[in-house]
Amino acid sequence: MAVQQNKKSKSKKGMRRSHHHVSIPAVVLCSCGNPNLPHAVCPACGKYRGRSYSNAAE
Ligand SMILES: [Zn+2]
Repeated sequence: MAVQQNKKSKSKKGMRRSHHHVSIPAVVLCSCGNPNLPHAVCPACGKYRGRSYSNAAE
């Protein structure tokens, strides 16, 4: 098992963890007015780029 030779300081720990934040996902508005993830079928109306891809709407 690998064992660390020297303890990382609080400063170095903070530097490492400065990249650990979670980014907020981008949101676009669908033509139906509901918020939606980009490049994804709208969960509310089942459409993407004007075409319907939901099985329930057929
Ligand atoms: Zn929609």
